[in-house]
Amino acid sequence: MGTRLNNREIVNLTRELSKEIYNTEFIYPITVSARMTNTLGYFQYRRMKGQILPTKIQFSAFLIDGRHNLSTIKSVIKHELAHWYLAITGQRFSDGDYVFEKEIKRIGASSTNTIQSCGTMHTAVCSKCGSVRYRNYSETRAKNYGKNRTSGCCGARIVYGGTIIIEDENKLVDTTEKVVKKHIEKKEEPVLKVATIEATTKPTIKNKLSISDIITPGPKGITNVQINPVIRKAVEENSKEIISLLISNYPDVYYSAKKYFGKIIKSKLDKLEVS
Ligand SMILES: [Zn+2]
Ligand SMILES: [Zn+2]
Repeated sequence: MGTRLNNREIVNLTRELSKEIYNTEFIYPITVSARMTNTLGYFQYRRMKGQILPTKIQFSAFLIDGRHNLSTIKSVIKHELAHWYLAITGQRFSDGDYVFEKEIKRIGASSTNTIQSCGTMHTAVCSKCGSVRYRNYSETRAKNYGKNRTSGCCGARIVYGGTIIIEDENKLVDTTEKVVKKHIEKKEEPVLKVATIEATTKPTIKNKLSISDIITPGPKGITNVQINPVIRKAVEENSKEIISLLISNYPDVYYSAKKYFGKIIKSKLDKLEVS
């Protein structure tokens, strides 16, 4: 009924979407977890010296086991990519942040907790009228649900009701309006401290590769976190072209990012800088 993907396929799809939407490669690990049952996707990061360093994106096995439609799968992937991209470009990136909610609407991603669970689910039902009072992927949870409750409909006991199959009928829910209101009330300002430097130099080199092919500035220019993977890629590919594009467009960010690389990469960069 839905779309089934294997781990490799969701990894590829995520990397493709990061290129397509943000013109930036998502170079961090992408994993699938069978234990992650309460949320479909998760962007993991750590903070270092005021910067956000992405660690990985993890998806629930439930997202790709065939119960969800491809459009739902994509909307979850895009949601996690929006967390990542806003984080590395020094913008507010949490669920509920105005900037974040606006961004996921722009790219057609789902807002948090708006995806209806579907597929085979265990139920707890009213013992009198039989209406479904609760459903969960976990049989144990469905069986325990009625222990301390009576049904709202008939005030009767709640019992385990077996499994039902629910179709994926997810549509994107627009939460922007709600968030805009919250934003205005809180007078929310971006507070993230991220090393950013405005791009002031205009492109000077005209190559078959152009700077917009390798990196796209956010509203505050290019950040270190953003340029690091591009530098790594240039080293991997031994590409003088990429390095010269970075230096001619974003010299300050390039040299400041270079400082944090280890000896081996630094010496490779020294060689690639010589044109
Ligand atoms: Zn989220
Ligand atoms: Zn009832």
